Amino acid sequence: MSRKAWCSLLKSDQVIDADARTLKVFLAQPRGFCAGVVRAIDIVERALKKYGPPVYVRHEIVHNKYVVEALKAKGARFVENVSEIPDGAVAIFSAHGVSKEVEREAEERNLPVIDATCPLVTKVHNQGNRYVDQGRTVILIGHAGHPEVEGTMGQIPGTVVLVQTVADVEKLDLPTDAPVAYVTQTTLSVDDTRDIIGALTRRFTDIRGPDIRDICYATQNRQSAVRDLCKVADLILVVGATNSSNSNRLREIGAELGIPSYLIADGSELDPAWLDGVGIVGITAGASAPEVLVDDVIRTLNRLRPVEVVTLPGREENITFRLPSALASA
Ligand code: SF4
Repeated sequence: MSRKAWCSLLKSDQVIDADARTLKVFLAQPRGFCAGVVRAIDIVERALKKYGPPVYVRHEIVHNKYVVEALKAKGARFVENVSEIPDGAVAIFSAHGVSKEVEREAEERNLPVIDATCPLVTKVHNQGNRYVDQGRTVILIGHAGHPEVEGTMGQIPGTVVLVQTVADVEKLDLPTDAPVAYVTQTTLSVDDTRDIIGALTRRFTDIRGPDIRDICYATQNRQSAVRDLCKVADLILVVGATNSSNSNRLREIGAELGIPSYLIADGSELDPAWLDGVGIVGITAGASAPEVLVDDVIRTLNRLRPVEVVTLPGREENITFRLPSALASA
């Protein structure tokens, strides 16, 4: 669909004139918090209310500095290792999940643990374990060093092989007829993994993989929405943290589609020079970025130029995840 057709679909009477001073701001729909992030933050807040501060969170509860600082102000303490948590203190595992070893360490120390692992990440762990029970070697498609990948590799017994690219598939030291199965990091969408899965299915004769409906709905929806945004925008701003995998991916999609795209934490990181010759700015936000930061970016834009904000039509999300029973009534 052409830019003009998109603009008219959006009930904009005229195609935007890039020289006009008014900046049209199109917001991706959906954007920002997913159900796993809402649940994880809710868990920390409810734990603070129920047990009183401090509660200890292993790793950033979600990858966003604003969220982490806001929870710190309420009494949450963030650590990277279970060994940093004092005896008897409440320990919360982040939305990214943890390895069995981390779980064991907390158990050996009798720490009261609340698990904020996103249920969709747990689903990947369970799927990987089922494949191992079937006698398969599990291949994880993901990014080395990401906490979710480390957690998933440490949740599945035996050897889990990590592949990040199609080239990695070619290098796998496994016979063609080896029984294998793949699982994927949740912040990679169907589109991201298509080529790697294609290479795997060509390489192995006995391969299984999860149902396509098992991928993270939030990742797929946000990526589809940014693709739509790219049909109309001259510039894409992704609100999110540099260590947020899904936010980085949103920026990459914009760049791959030929639109100048920047990942910014908030309005303070916006460079006015990016707006030169721009008539339409598309804004989206990673799954761990709160809407207040999107508002901050819009306010910053508005200080530079008059803005008119339109939300793109998109997919509605009404998914919620149940809280751990210990906190459901907190
Ligand atoms: Fe869960 Fe998907 Fe959100 Fe990750 S992006 S926390 S897998 S809902």
